[in-house]
Amino acid sequence: QGPPPVTRYNLNKVTVTADPVRNQEHILILTPMARFYQEYWDNLLRMSYPHELITLGFILPKTKEGNQATAALQQQIQKTQNHGPEKDRFKSIIILRQDFDPAVASQDESERHKLANQKARREVMAKARNSLLFTTLGPSTSWVLWLDADIVETPPTLIQDLAAHDKPIIVANCFQKYYDPERKKMAERPYDFNSWRDSETALKMAEQMGPDDILLEGYAELATYRTLLAYMSTSDGPKDLVVPLDGVGGTALLVKAVVHRDGAMFPPFSFYHLIESEGFAKMAKRLGWQPYGLPNYKVYHYNE
Ligand code: GDP
Ligand code: MN
Repeated sequence: QGPPPVTRYNLNKVTVTADPVRNQEHILILTPMARFYQEYWDNLLRMSYPHELITLGFILPKTKEGNQATAALQQQIQKTQNHGPEKDRFKSIIILRQDFDPAVASQDESERHKLANQKARREVMAKARNSLLFTTLGPSTSWVLWLDADIVETPPTLIQDLAAHDKPIIVANCFQKYYDPERKKMAERPYDFNSWRDSETALKMAEQMGPDDILLEGYAELATYRTLLAYMSTSDGPKDLVVPLDGVGGTALLVKAVVHRDGAMFPPFSFYHLIESEGFAKMAKRLGWQPYGLPNYKVYHYNE
C-alpha cells in the first residue's frame, strides 16, 4: 500500500456564473446561530436550489442557549438528512461550537441593540463568521451565502435570484413583519441598517476618531446621514433594481467564493472605522470587488 493519493482540484474549473443551477455550482450556506428558529429551518428546506449542491455550515456559542440551539438544530438535521425525502437532503452539514464567549450575556433584542454593547458584540460576531468561513470554504465552493439564523422568510429562489445579478457581493433588503395595532393588520418595516452608501458626514466623523473607534449605523447618537438600503425600497419598484453599496449587512448576503479566497473577511477590529460585515464590504472594495444591494428584493427577520 503506497502513500495516500494527492487530490488535485483545478480551481479554474470551478465556475461562478449567473446561472449556477445549470452549471452545477456548489454553494456554502453559512449561519452563525445563537438561537434556533423552526421557521429558519423550514424556509431553508424550501430553497429550490438543488440541495445536493448545498453545504450548510453553522457556528454556535457554548452557552446554555447555544447548547439548546445545537440540540434543536441537530434534531432537524437528523430528520432531514436521514428520514426526509431525498430531494430535501443537503450535500453535507458542518456544525462548529465557538471557543470564545458571546459578548452579551443576554440575546434579547433590547440588550443586543444597546449602543454600548455594539463594539464587543460585533467583534464576537466577526470572529464567529471568520471561524466558520475559514473552516468550511472548500476547493469546489463557487458561492457563499451568509444567512442569519433569524431570517425566517425568503423567496425559495433566493440563491438563483441573487446569483443572476452576477455581482461579487450582493445583499437582499432585510425587513421585519409586525402587527400594526392602529391599522389592525400585519405590516412590515426595515430591519437591517448595515447596508448603506457612504456620506460625507460619516467620512468626516471617521476622520475625527481614534484608531480603535468604530462607526455604527442606526443610532441617533451617531447620525451618519448615510443612504440606507433599508429606505431605498419603493412599493412598486422593480425587484431586480441593483445599487452599489459601501457597507453590507450579513443577514442574506451572497458572495462569490473568490472574494473570500482573495482574503476578504470580517474584521473583528476597527478597519477604516468599520467592523464585521461593514468592514468586510470595505475590505472587499480595497481588493477590487464592489458590493451591491437589492432595495426591492426582501427577506424577513424574525420578530421577537
Ligand atoms: P441583529 O439581528 O442585528 O440583532 O443580530 P443577531 O443578534 O441576530 O446576530 C446575527 C446572527 O448571528 C444571528 O444569526 C444570530 O443567531 C447569530 N449570533 C448572535 N450572537 C452570536 C454569538 O455570540 N455566536 C454565534 N455563533 N452566533 C451569534
Ligand atoms: Mn438578527
